[in-house]
Amino acid sequence: MTTTLDQLNAATPDEAARLLDGLYEHSPWIAERALRRRPFVSLAQLKRALVEALAEGGRDAQLALIRAHPELAGKAMVAKALTAESTHEQTASGLTHCSAEEFARIQRLNADYNARFGWPFILAVRGPRGVGLARAEIIDTFARRLANHPDFEFAECLRNIHRIAEMRLADKFGFEPVLGNQVWDCAEILARHTDPGYAELGQLTVTYLTDAHLACQAQLRRWMHDCGFDEVRVDAVGNVVGVYHGSDAAAKRLLTGSHYDTVRNGGKYDGRLGIFVPLVAVRELHRAGRRLPFGIEVIGFAEEEGQRYKATFLGSGSVTGDFDPAWLEQRDADGITMREAMRAAGLPATLEAIHAERRDPSRYLGFVEVHIEQGPVLNELDLPLGVVSSINGSVRYACEVRGMASHAGTTPMDRRRDAAVAVAELALYVERRAAGVPEVVGTIGMLDVPNGSINVVPGRCRFSLDLRATTDAARDALAGDVLAELAAICERRGLAYQAEETMRAAAAPSAPAWQKRWERAVESLGLPVFRMPSGAGHDAMKLHEVMPQAMLFVRGLNAGISHNPLESSTNDDADLSVRAFRHLLDQLNEELS
Ligand SMILES: [Zn+2]
Repeated sequence: MTTTLDQLNAATPDEAARLLDGLYEHSPWIAERALRRRPFVSLAQLKRALVEALAEGGRDAQLALIRAHPELAGKAMVAKALTAESTHEQTASGLTHCSAEEFARIQRLNADYNARFGWPFILAVRGPRGVGLARAEIIDTFARRLANHPDFEFAECLRNIHRIAEMRLADKFGFEPVLGNQVWDCAEILARHTDPGYAELGQLTVTYLTDAHLACQAQLRRWMHDCGFDEVRVDAVGNVVGVYHGSDAAAKRLLTGSHYDTVRNGGKYDGRLGIFVPLVAVRELHRAGRRLPFGIEVIGFAEEEGQRYKATFLGSGSVTGDFDPAWLEQRDADGITMREAMRAAGLPATLEAIHAERRDPSRYLGFVEVHIEQGPVLNELDLPLGVVSSINGSVRYACEVRGMASHAGTTPMDRRRDAAVAVAELALYVERRAAGVPEVVGTIGMLDVPNGSINVVPGRCRFSLDLRATTDAARDALAGDVLAELAAICERRGLAYQAEETMRAAAAPSAPAWQKRWERAVESLGLPVFRMPSGAGHDAMKLHEVMPQAMLFVRGLNAGISHNPLESSTNDDADLSVRAFRHLLDQLNEELS
């Protein structure tokens, strides 16, 4: 028999605790503590209360909870001494059917893991879609996590425990994240298309106008048709555009979407999530035969990552009228110009056609974009959604410090002009200076001693600077201080330097009214509103130049890793993003009716 939230809210404390029995391994206190926060408006709110209850329990209680778990495919499983829930999960994942070799490998991993951390390895073996991870995936994850820092691994175990509880809760409440499953499945299906050379390695790479890219394009078109969009087309640069008309086909439109190209060996959700979420939301409108007082235009942007050609934001740029004509003559690594690639893809490849894609902003309400966070913050806080307050402005420099190359043995320490040590000093300054201001970041990501040698004091050091902040003023203040420090270090050490600015992008603060709509949407799900800046650039940054915009972030698993095959998201989080998106549509509906 399934439980309902109403039942849970109305039950006596003892009854309620019984309804949540078995959520956490031998630890009923977590549910009991969370239940003090009744009533709950949603399962998401209940889950949040459980997360907070465990967090408040403190480290000893958390460790006890972790230790209350059985080893993966361990003695308890073999002896059939697991709780009913664990038996179900370990059986569903096929762990009970390990080959002798797999079983031996897992036992070795169990022993190594226990020796390193002192608690059993915990993994939500039903996985991000709830249907069970493959045994090879489980073993890979086990081996990978063995290398984690103990503090991180401790938190990762707790996150997995909450994921297990989330799925046990869904079982109890008979809840299935149907819309989230659709999004999740789309991500899997689209990820089948990958560029030659990467397919063989099992890696996902989709760069501009390759065969895989065109296959994605065709798939997105089909899905848009299936979802009930009124107009579906591929535009002059390869963006896939779907329009779901409002009650009046000439009504203003909400613009939304994200990119479907990927970096090399990238993830399945970066960009794509922001296409699937509105697709699924429109499908629901279409199924209900519902028209809103505004149209919805979803764009799958063809190019955002700048991989095949140095033309980052080409997709969204063409929509804002920002297409550099010189791009057409640019050649890829095989010598194919963009114009040739466009022709081969059946696109007109003329500036006239491309410029005709420029949208008239007065016909749009604004732009919203759903995107995987690509960072560790939401994952660490165990929050599914975050509201973006601003896309960071950035500035980049290519720099070089020049000193004097000299013999490492014969040059006394007080007579050196070491270029690399100067840069090391600057790196520490960048770290200190950026850390001193909230939401400001600075990185020296490339550091190179050209022709360096083990027995030579570095005479030259080349390095990069990447500085970002939520406002242009904060970014410029950071850049000013860092460059002044570079000058001072070089002056003191008798070195010369140069710093060439290679990129500058303005910050894109969210339009307050649109940010507020996302906040209300998150609140409506029973979740706390968490505001955060976007450290990475997004298509919304481009649209920001011509219309109001705001973004919603969705938590990524595996410490939020992105531009990496480990990038991952759950069906439950995807479900919440669709619900948030639908709530935003409902808000606009009310405002405009
Ligand atoms: Zn992206």
